[in-house]
Amino acid sequence: MSDEEYQYEEDIVLYEAADGIATVTMNRPKYHNVQNGRMTYELDAAFKRAVADDNIKVIVLKGAGKHFSAGHDIGTPGRDINDSQDRVTMWYDHANKEGGEFLYVREAEAYLGMCRRWRDIPKPTIAAVQGACIAGGLMLAWVCDLIIATDDAFFSDPVVRMGIPGVEYFAHPFELNPRIAKEFLFTGDRMSAERAYQMGMVNQVSTRERLAADVMALAEKVAAQPRLGLALTKQVINHIEDLQGKRTGMDAAFAWHHFTHAHNELVSGDRLSGFDGKAMAKANKAQADDKGDAST
Ligand code: ZN
Repeated sequence: MSDEEYQYEEDIVLYEAADGIATVTMNRPKYHNVQNGRMTYELDAAFKRAVADDNIKVIVLKGAGKHFSAGHDIGTPGRDINDSQDRVTMWYDHANKEGGEFLYVREAEAYLGMCRRWRDIPKPTIAAVQGACIAGGLMLAWVCDLIIATDDAFFSDPVVRMGIPGVEYFAHPFELNPRIAKEFLFTGDRMSAERAYQMGMVNQVSTRERLAADVMALAEKVAAQPRLGLALTKQVINHIEDLQGKRTGMDAAFAWHHFTHAHNELVSGDRLSGFDGKAMAKANKAQADDKGDAST
């Protein structure tokens, strides 16, 4: 945990709507948009607002500042793992639970449950990714239908370093082919936007200067299509992914994920194997430096 004092942060999620396109912005640039509970529920509210507005055809998700998202909040003063929240999926409160139940219930709602809910938003979604897109950040990009990334964007899931087999929304073998997904997870290395594009994980590579315009051009093109046609096209492709095992595979991965959270607690007394945000960022940076990777 950080020893900085917590100060209430205004506007951690921004919402704008114009010309049939809603733009939802994660706005914790000071913390590289790490996702705490409040951000999760404010993102959900923003998506709901866009879904409910008949004028909105397409939703864009982006991050303010240098990076899209450095993942789940595992160390800022605004981290709120013990707070109760109004739940939106059908789970009970985690905050007063013990043992493995605490984190299982929290993550079933706030991570896996929310990501599945957002993945099935009945309007097309586009992620605009610059800089870091790490772990929980990957989950947010992956739940979007289309991804445009800047040429300096990078993607990684370093969670295996905690002894945990990847993030909660385990889409890796669908986003990448299985052999590349194994390499991505086994090494925890950063994948460049160009490589992600080659693998089909990213639709387009842009630049920092062009990102907003490229995202808007794609959003406008999609927004010109009929609403129901878009909703049903999305639904059928998501359905086919689920028939290919995405949903059931993710259920299995989530159980293993929680076995390892519990194992870590038993062995080291810490569910994350002793890693907080700073320790993880340091280890990630050391690994990238080791590789001569300049994409920080
Ligand atoms: Zn977890």
